[in-house]
Amino acid sequence: MNPWLIAPPALLAGAAAMTAYGAVHPRSHLFGPVISHTDAAGKLALTFDDGPNPAITPKLLELLARHNAHATFFLVGKFVRQCPDLVKELAARGHVLGNHTETHPNLFFCGPQETREELQRCTDAVEQLVWAKPRWFRPPFGFRSPWLGDILHQHGMTNVTWSLIPGDWRSKPADWLIERMKPIAANAHANLPKAKSGATSGDILCLHDGDHTRLNGDREHTLKALEFWLPRWRDLGLEFVTMDEIMRKAVEA
Ligand SMILES: [Zn+2]
Repeated sequence: MNPWLIAPPALLAGAAAMTAYGAVHPRSHLFGPVISHTDAAGKLALTFDDGPNPAITPKLLELLARHNAHATFFLVGKFVRQCPDLVKELAARGHVLGNHTETHPNLFFCGPQETREELQRCTDAVEQLVWAKPRWFRPPFGFRSPWLGDILHQHGMTNVTWSLIPGDWRSKPADWLIERMKPIAANAHANLPKAKSGATSGDILCLHDGDHTRLNGDREHTLKALEFWLPRWRDLGLEFVTMDEIMRKAVEA
Protein backbone atom coordinates (compact mmCIF):
# COMPACT_ATOMS: atom_id res chain seq x y z
CA MET A 1 0.00 0.00 0.00
CA ASN A 2 1.17 3.53 -0.73
CA PRO A 3 2.51 4.80 2.61
CA TRP A 4 1.06 8.26 1.95
CA LEU A 5 -2.41 6.75 2.25
CA ILE A 6 -1.49 5.94 5.82
CA ALA A 7 0.70 8.92 6.64
CA PRO A 8 -1.80 11.82 6.60
CA PRO A 9 -3.98 10.50 9.45
CA ALA A 10 -0.84 9.64 11.39
CA LEU A 11 0.57 13.11 10.78
CA LEU A 12 -2.73 14.68 11.77
CA ALA A 13 -2.78 12.64 14.96
CA GLY A 14 0.77 13.76 15.65
CA ALA A 15 -0.13 17.41 15.09
CA ALA A 16 -3.18 17.07 17.35
CA ALA A 17 -1.06 15.49 20.06
CA MET A 18 1.50 18.33 19.75
CA THR A 19 -1.28 20.91 20.05
CA ALA A 20 -2.77 19.17 23.08
CA TYR A 21 0.69 19.05 24.67
CA GLY A 22 1.28 22.73 23.94
CA ALA A 23 -2.13 23.68 25.27
CA VAL A 24 -1.95 21.98 28.63
CA HIS A 25 1.63 21.01 29.54
CA PRO A 26 2.74 23.38 32.35
CA ARG A 27 6.23 23.89 30.88
CA SER A 28 5.24 24.17 27.19
CA HIS A 29 6.17 27.49 25.55
CA LEU A 30 4.32 26.62 22.33
CA PHE A 31 1.60 29.17 23.13
CA GLY A 32 3.81 31.91 24.61
CA PRO A 33 6.11 32.45 27.59
CA VAL A 34 5.21 30.71 30.82
CA ILE A 35 6.70 30.56 34.33
CA SER A 36 6.52 27.14 35.98
CA HIS A 37 9.33 27.39 38.59
CA THR A 38 10.80 29.96 40.97
CA ASP A 39 14.32 31.25 40.44
CA ALA A 40 16.02 29.37 43.31
CA ALA A 41 15.71 26.00 45.03
CA GLY A 42 15.13 27.66 48.39
CA LYS A 43 12.10 29.61 47.16
CA LEU A 44 8.68 28.00 47.20
CA ALA A 45 5.79 29.92 45.61
CA LEU A 46 2.44 29.02 47.15
CA THR A 47 -0.39 29.74 44.71
CA PHE A 48 -4.14 29.36 45.22
CA ASP A 49 -6.75 29.21 42.46
CA ASP A 50 -10.53 29.61 42.09
CA GLY A 51 -11.16 31.98 45.00
CA PRO A 52 -11.99 34.12 46.74
CA ASN A 53 -14.01 31.67 48.82
CA PRO A 54 -15.74 32.98 51.99
CA ALA A 55 -15.80 29.45 53.49
CA ILE A 56 -12.04 28.86 53.20
CA THR A 57 -10.00 31.94 52.26
CA PRO A 58 -10.32 33.70 55.68
CA LYS A 59 -9.09 30.53 57.45
CA LEU A 60 -6.28 30.22 54.92
CA LEU A 61 -5.26 33.83 55.58
CA GLU A 62 -5.00 33.10 59.32
CA LEU A 63 -2.97 29.97 58.63
CA LEU A 64 -0.56 31.79 56.29
CA ALA A 65 -0.20 34.65 58.79
CA ARG A 66 0.69 32.19 61.57
CA HIS A 67 3.57 30.93 59.41
CA ASN A 68 4.51 34.38 58.14
CA ALA A 69 3.89 33.22 54.56
CA HIS A 70 2.71 35.25 51.60
CA ALA A 71 1.10 33.68 48.55
CA THR A 72 -0.29 34.46 45.11
CA PHE A 73 -4.05 34.13 44.62
CA PHE A 74 -5.43 33.57 41.12
CA LEU A 75 -8.94 34.95 41.45
CA VAL A 76 -12.11 34.29 39.45
CA GLY A 77 -13.66 37.64 38.48
CA LYS A 78 -17.29 36.65 39.20
CA PHE A 79 -16.29 35.70 42.79
CA VAL A 80 -14.22 38.88 43.20
CA ARG A 81 -17.41 40.87 42.53
CA GLN A 82 -19.29 38.84 45.17
CA CYS A 83 -16.60 39.08 47.88
CA PRO A 84 -15.03 42.54 47.58
CA ASP A 85 -14.01 42.84 51.24
CA LEU A 86 -12.19 39.52 51.14
CA VAL A 87 -10.24 40.60 48.05
CA LYS A 88 -9.28 43.87 49.75
CA GLU A 89 -8.11 41.91 52.78
CA LEU A 90 -5.94 39.65 50.61
CA ALA A 91 -4.17 42.70 49.20
CA ALA A 92 -3.96 44.45 52.59
CA ARG A 93 -2.22 41.42 54.07
CA GLY A 94 0.48 41.55 51.39
CA HIS A 95 -0.64 38.71 49.15
CA VAL A 96 -0.41 39.04 45.38
CA LEU A 97 -3.56 38.97 43.27
CA GLY A 98 -3.54 37.22 39.91
CA ASN A 99 -6.10 36.85 37.11
CA HIS A 100 -7.86 33.49 36.61
CA THR A 101 -10.49 34.81 34.11
CA GLU A 102 -14.01 36.06 34.80
CA THR A 103 -15.97 32.77 34.54
CA HIS A 104 -13.29 30.03 34.43
CA PRO A 105 -13.82 28.70 30.87
CA ASN A 106 -11.47 26.33 29.07
CA LEU A 107 -9.60 28.90 26.96
CA PHE A 108 -8.60 26.28 24.39
CA PHE A 109 -12.20 26.51 23.15
CA CYS A 110 -12.54 30.31 23.39
CA GLY A 111 -11.89 32.60 20.41
CA PRO A 112 -9.68 35.70 20.69
CA GLN A 113 -12.55 38.07 21.50
CA GLU A 114 -14.02 35.88 24.22
CA THR A 115 -10.53 35.32 25.66
CA ARG A 116 -9.90 39.09 25.73
CA GLU A 117 -13.21 39.70 27.53
CA GLU A 118 -12.57 36.95 30.09
CA LEU A 119 -9.21 38.51 30.98
CA GLN A 120 -10.38 42.12 30.90
CA ARG A 121 -13.45 41.57 33.09
CA CYS A 122 -11.41 39.84 35.80
CA THR A 123 -8.74 42.55 35.65
CA ASP A 124 -11.45 45.24 35.94
CA ALA A 125 -13.01 43.53 38.97
CA VAL A 126 -9.66 43.37 40.80
CA GLU A 127 -8.50 46.84 39.77
CA GLN A 128 -11.71 48.48 41.02
CA LEU A 129 -11.01 47.11 44.51
CA VAL A 130 -7.25 47.41 44.94
CA TRP A 131 -6.28 50.05 42.33
CA ALA A 132 -3.75 47.77 40.68
CA LYS A 133 -4.01 45.49 37.66
CA PRO A 134 -2.98 41.86 38.08
CA ARG A 135 0.41 41.11 36.49
CA TRP A 136 0.08 37.34 36.66
CA PHE A 137 -2.32 35.03 34.88
CA ARG A 138 -3.16 31.38 35.35
CA PRO A 139 -5.21 29.64 32.65
CA PRO A 140 -8.26 27.72 33.92
CA PHE A 141 -7.63 23.95 33.82
CA GLY A 142 -4.11 24.81 32.62
CA PHE A 143 -5.37 25.07 29.03
CA ARG A 144 -3.93 27.71 26.70
CA SER A 145 -4.58 28.63 23.08
CA PRO A 146 -2.57 29.93 20.10
CA TRP A 147 -3.70 33.57 20.69
CA LEU A 148 -3.43 33.65 24.50
CA GLY A 149 0.25 34.70 24.54
CA ASP A 150 -0.37 37.84 22.47
CA ILE A 151 -3.47 38.79 24.46
CA LEU A 152 -1.60 38.39 27.76
CA HIS A 153 1.22 40.54 26.41
CA GLN A 154 -1.28 43.26 25.45
CA HIS A 155 -2.73 43.12 28.99
CA GLY A 156 0.73 43.28 30.59
CA MET A 157 0.34 39.85 32.17
CA THR A 158 2.58 36.78 32.31
CA ASN A 159 1.39 33.18 32.29
CA VAL A 160 2.11 31.24 35.46
CA THR A 161 1.62 27.48 35.61
CA TRP A 162 3.19 25.21 38.24
CA SER A 163 5.79 22.57 38.98
CA LEU A 164 3.42 20.62 41.26
CA ILE A 165 -0.37 20.36 41.16
CA PRO A 166 -1.46 17.74 43.71
CA GLY A 167 -5.16 17.73 42.69
CA ASP A 168 -6.84 19.19 45.78
CA TRP A 169 -10.03 19.91 43.82
CA ARG A 170 -10.89 16.24 44.40
CA SER A 171 -12.87 15.26 47.52
CA LYS A 172 -10.18 13.23 49.23
CA PRO A 173 -8.95 12.90 52.83
CA ALA A 174 -6.22 15.28 53.99
CA ASP A 175 -3.81 12.33 54.33
CA TRP A 176 -4.12 11.66 50.62
CA LEU A 177 -3.27 15.28 49.84
CA ILE A 178 -0.39 15.37 52.34
CA GLU A 179 1.13 12.40 50.52
CA ARG A 180 0.65 14.07 47.12
CA MET A 181 2.52 17.17 48.35
CA LYS A 182 5.62 15.19 49.36
CA PRO A 183 7.61 16.10 46.20
CA ILE A 184 8.10 19.66 47.55
CA ALA A 185 10.13 18.33 50.49
CA ALA A 186 11.87 15.74 48.31
CA ASN A 187 12.92 18.46 45.84
CA ALA A 188 14.14 20.66 48.69
CA HIS A 189 16.24 17.79 50.07
CA ALA A 190 17.73 17.12 46.63
CA ASN A 191 18.26 20.70 45.45
CA LEU A 192 18.90 22.92 48.47
CA PRO A 193 22.50 21.69 48.89
CA LYS A 194 23.14 22.76 45.27
CA ALA A 195 21.44 26.14 45.71
CA LYS A 196 24.67 28.05 46.45
CA SER A 197 25.78 27.53 42.86
CA GLY A 198 22.61 29.36 41.76
CA ALA A 199 21.97 26.70 39.15
CA THR A 200 18.71 25.45 40.61
CA SER A 201 15.05 26.41 40.52
CA GLY A 202 12.28 26.02 43.08
CA ASP A 203 8.70 24.82 43.06
CA ILE A 204 5.51 26.66 42.23
CA LEU A 205 2.76 24.77 44.06
CA CYS A 206 -0.79 25.04 42.70
CA LEU A 207 -3.53 24.57 45.30
CA HIS A 208 -7.18 25.69 45.41
CA ASP A 209 -8.89 27.77 48.09
CA GLY A 210 -12.02 27.95 45.92
CA ASP A 211 -14.25 25.84 43.69
CA HIS A 212 -14.74 27.43 40.28
CA THR A 213 -18.30 26.08 40.00
CA ARG A 214 -19.65 27.78 43.15
CA LEU A 215 -18.87 29.91 46.16
CA ASN A 216 -18.24 28.23 49.54
CA GLY A 217 -16.75 25.03 48.11
CA ASP A 218 -15.18 22.69 50.66
CA ARG A 219 -11.37 22.88 50.70
CA GLU A 220 -10.82 21.92 54.35
CA HIS A 221 -8.42 19.14 53.27
CA THR A 222 -6.23 21.78 51.61
CA LEU A 223 -6.05 23.70 54.90
CA LYS A 224 -5.21 20.53 56.84
CA ALA A 225 -2.48 19.54 54.39
CA LEU A 226 -0.96 23.02 54.67
CA GLU A 227 -1.15 22.85 58.50
CA PHE A 228 0.99 19.73 58.19
CA TRP A 229 3.48 20.96 55.61
CA LEU A 230 4.03 24.70 56.25
CA PRO A 231 6.14 24.24 59.43
CA ARG A 232 8.00 21.30 57.91
CA TRP A 233 8.83 23.23 54.73
CA ARG A 234 10.07 26.12 56.86
CA ASP A 235 12.24 23.74 58.92
CA LEU A 236 13.76 22.43 55.69
CA GLY A 237 14.91 25.96 54.89
CA LEU A 238 12.33 26.88 52.27
CA GLU A 239 11.31 30.53 51.91
CA PHE A 240 7.73 31.31 50.87
CA VAL A 241 7.65 33.80 48.01
CA THR A 242 5.00 35.52 45.92
CA MET A 243 5.22 35.86 42.15
CA ASP A 244 6.10 39.56 42.61
CA GLU A 245 9.04 38.62 44.83
CA ILE A 246 10.37 36.14 42.27
CA MET A 247 10.19 38.80 39.57
CA ARG A 248 11.72 41.55 41.73
CA LYS A 249 14.68 39.38 42.73
CA ALA A 250 15.11 38.15 39.14
CA VAL A 251 15.29 41.77 37.97
CA GLU A 252 17.69 42.78 40.76
CA ALA A 253 19.98 39.78 40.15
ZN1 LIG B 1 -9.12 27.15 38.27
